[in-house]
Amino acid sequence: MPDRRSAIVTGSTSGIGLGMAEALAEAGNNVMLNGFGDAEEIERTRAALAARCGVEVGYNGADMTRPDEIAALVAAAESAFGQVDIVVNNAGIQHVEPVEDFPVEKWDAILAINLSSAFHTVRHSFAGMKERGWGRVINLSSAHGLVASPYKTAYVAAKHGMLGLTKVLALEGAEHGVTANAICPGYVLTPLVEKQIPDTAKARGISEDEVVKTVMLGPQPTKQFVKTQEVGALAAFLCSDAAASITGAALPIDGGWTAQ
Ligand code: NAD
Repeated sequence: MPDRRSAIVTGSTSGIGLGMAEALAEAGNNVMLNGFGDAEEIERTRAALAARCGVEVGYNGADMTRPDEIAALVAAAESAFGQVDIVVNNAGIQHVEPVEDFPVEKWDAILAINLSSAFHTVRHSFAGMKERGWGRVINLSSAHGLVASPYKTAYVAAKHGMLGLTKVLALEGAEHGVTANAICPGYVLTPLVEKQIPDTAKARGISEDEVVKTVMLGPQPTKQFVKTQEVGALAAFLCSDAAASITGAALPIDGGWTAQ
């Protein structure tokens, strides 16, 4: 076993991705951050994480709609760390609107970022994981990969698609020490969720307070948002050797939402 394993976490400049990148670094893995944002703030985050955890932390700003940039992201991580052992496909966006008004360009962007980007990161890193006999793929699906809500056609379709991709990768990696699993969070209060509060209020004709109470926390029996640190801890466990037999799973972390 190498001293340290190396991970790519897409969309890790914010929210759940950052929570998982922090948890993986805390567990002793090198991490390549990715995502958009203010360059100085990203650099501060990168340097602080490296210093705090004593691991190598890089950053690559690949746009997850662009297969050529995703190939360059994997190549950059291989060149920085020597190899890529863990790929966390987390980058995601959302758009909330009834299907008859749903903009075609939003459908295309959500499918590209929330689903196709995972195919591209894996297509460039899977052979190395198989050859070395150890690898982890984590795909960020959602409670919306297991059940639907209205006005989220593209998101729900992409998140269900992530589960199919995960199962195929689990079968292809099974005899090579490579696992693939999907994490299915309920609502986590991140910028992605904050942005959809006004849009959901408009689509449903209710107040923003009602969106939080009834649409978001209503389906979660705990009546609490899931925390980014909780998703990070689950990702770190899936990347440990103790999780070697967990593969092809869709793991809800949703306060009981999909138990109902
Ligand atoms: P967020 O908006 O806080 O973070 C999204 C990240 O993706 C950011 O780093 C952003 O820069 C990056 N990103 C967006 N477009 C990109 C692109 N084209 N190329 C590269 N990076 C890009 O959102 P979040 O809530 O942390 O969501 C992270 C993942 O978790 C998403 O896949 C989301 O669908 C999933 N998820 C979120 C929730 C929730 O309630 N927040 C619930 C279930 C699943």
